[in-house]
Amino acid sequence: MLDVLRRIIQEVNGARNLDAALSTMVRRIRKAMRTDVCSFYLADPDDDRLVLMETIGLCSQAVGQVTLSRNEGLVGLVASREEPLNLEDAQSHPYFRYFESTGEERYSSFLGVPIIHQRRMLGVLVVQQSVKRRFDEEDEAFLVTMAAQLGGVLAHSLATGNLNRRSLNDGQAVFKGVAAGPGMAIGEAVVIAPPADLDSVPDLIPTDVEYEITRLNEAIGRVRREIRSAADRLSNRISAQELALFEVYQQMLGEAALYQEVVKRIREGQWAPGALADVVRRHVQYLERVDDDYLRERAADVRDLGRRVLAHLQEETSQTPAVYPQRTVLVGDEISVTMLGEVPREKLVGLVSVRGSSTSHVAIIARAMGIPTVSGMVDLPLPRLNGASVVLDGHRGRLFVWPGSELESYYQNLIDEELALAEVLEHEQDLPSRTPDGHDMALMVNTGLTVDAVASLKSRISGVGLYRTEVPFMITERFPGEQEQTRLYREQLESFAPLPVVMRTLDIGGDKDLPYFPIEEANPFLGWRGIRVTLDHPEVLMVQLRAMLRASQGLDNLQVLLPMVTNVDEVDDALRLLDRAIIELGEEGVVARRPKVGVMIEVPATLYQLEALAQRADFFSVGSNDLTQYLLAVDRNNPRVAELYDACHPAVLSAMARLADESRALDRPISVCGELAGDPAGALLLMGMGFEALSMNAPSLPRVRAAIRRVPRSAACELVTQTLALESPKAVRRHLATRFDEWQLTHLLPPRS
Ligand code: PEP
Ligand code: MG
Repeated sequence: MLDVLRRIIQEVNGARNLDAALSTMVRRIRKAMRTDVCSFYLADPDDDRLVLMETIGLCSQAVGQVTLSRNEGLVGLVASREEPLNLEDAQSHPYFRYFESTGEERYSSFLGVPIIHQRRMLGVLVVQQSVKRRFDEEDEAFLVTMAAQLGGVLAHSLATGNLNRRSLNDGQAVFKGVAAGPGMAIGEAVVIAPPADLDSVPDLIPTDVEYEITRLNEAIGRVRREIRSAADRLSNRISAQELALFEVYQQMLGEAALYQEVVKRIREGQWAPGALADVVRRHVQYLERVDDDYLRERAADVRDLGRRVLAHLQEETSQTPAVYPQRTVLVGDEISVTMLGEVPREKLVGLVSVRGSSTSHVAIIARAMGIPTVSGMVDLPLPRLNGASVVLDGHRGRLFVWPGSELESYYQNLIDEELALAEVLEHEQDLPSRTPDGHDMALMVNTGLTVDAVASLKSRISGVGLYRTEVPFMITERFPGEQEQTRLYREQLESFAPLPVVMRTLDIGGDKDLPYFPIEEANPFLGWRGIRVTLDHPEVLMVQLRAMLRASQGLDNLQVLLPMVTNVDEVDDALRLLDRAIIELGEEGVVARRPKVGVMIEVPATLYQLEALAQRADFFSVGSNDLTQYLLAVDRNNPRVAELYDACHPAVLSAMARLADESRALDRPISVCGELAGDPAGALLLMGMGFEALSMNAPSLPRVRAAIRRVPRSAACELVTQTLALESPKAVRRHLATRFDEWQLTHLLPPRS
């Protein structure tokens, strides 16, 4: 059964267009279940009706004609109850409704199951048979499993505008994702794919088929030459057996089957990179499934060859446009920090990524740069978006494709209003972040990019609460050396001196991979991350600590922060390395003072060991992004569970309140550097709890400062008491919104969907 299921899903997934997908789906299911009829009814969200979209067995003229309400007929019953219905004699059921055009009266047995994706009813899958019999349990299980798997595929087709033809005229479509960077933008979509990635090549229709074939030939020719010269270079260094592998490569490249298939795909209407990717992927899938070790090994070779040829094809028609449109909305499967850096800042107005979530690191950086961002757009039809005009709503997590003039001018008004608000708030940015009842709340910034160190910031903040050192590491091609790091850190420390700069030691792992230090793990957020990596690589940590100490010479505004601490031993080990770095530098004639060292509170275990940590650390900084993820057991990057990820969950808030109280008792300063600090409502709560400083992306400062300047600390304390009595994140958000409304500060809160 599993095999049949997998094959059907693969075929449906691989279908070029929606009609083909639906037709494959019903035909394959009918065959697998040996039934007379298989049909699919689509739930139209606009008018709450079900439409017969595809059938094999019923009259084909009925397709698109038969529609029923959600409470009508057996199909309506399946849809409204959202559960399977298995009947031996359909016609005797009180809900049975007869549609003449389907020729349905001949079928007695009926099995219908809903197709649901992310809690949304997409449609109903029905099988019918003329003999009177109840479908057995295995049939039911098969169809339910099938429907569960088809949910994602259909949701994708729906979102692409293929399925719901009536509501998505002229290619208009709206896609939903996770709001990851506030703000809105109107612009042109530029789809980028990482180079030589077979899985992210967009589909494009070639304008000149012969040209596509010629450049395919040229790319293959280049790879042949590359392989030949690699073999020559290595011929006296490796064994004859290993050299034979190069021969295998040459043979594969010359294999008529593979090549011919690519050419055929091109002639069918696919450009060369897309055709190559399709064919290579299919071969790899096939080879990976065969029961033969030798052939399975060849899958990797085919993929490698495919990548090499693709790299040459992409060299020519680079994935990155030579000139970016004036208002570029960058769209990609996964946008890396490097890709971000490729677009001139003044042209980049928005970011959209299929993967990632609001606290993925690229989102954090985008926010720091003030770029509206939506991520987790799992249903996005990347290949067809390039060049489309789009409206991006980073507050609500929406992307409108070919929006039409009405929607565009609606959004233009909203954008103008935001700009006006920003201007108004700008006037008070040089005023202290002091509450009406005289409490000074220290506001700090999170940095990582050089652009963060803008001169105007310095007078408005109390320092840098988090310098993410991994950011510069992500944009280099190797670990930066001690001198290079010293220069980087010096720049940061100098820009903000005499204000303190909290530099976090390298926090890689999780979703932060270095291209030159890949970490492949099944559970990266529970794996080798932060201090776990750097303590395993003292050579990396030592260089970093030495560079920080050197950079701080004569400025003495450095503080060091340790990420992902789980055990006190980790702090002890890191401190030992720090002391060693100071001694080593001393031996080299550089006198370095021991900076204050802080521990990040982001692993729940640290909540229960604060006292032991306080004996070792000078201060604490709460990483609310990770603390939320670990307390709630919700992957911060997984769009499927993004709705569950909320730092305003009562459990997270009570942990935060407790942390503030305990640190005060332990006489250790504590601040927050996660995203919660940059949310005006979150900031008031944290102030009320007693945190000493809030560190956030610079673009969040104006709204947070405005909130602090308008709400007395006593009211913030009350807000904490009220909020901590609530039981769900929704209730908390609702309460915060109500209070902001009473204070007439709603405009400071980001609009939510
Ligand atoms: C956090 O976890 O809240 C934090 C500030 O660190 P990062 O987002 O870089 O993991
Ligand atoms: Mg963290």
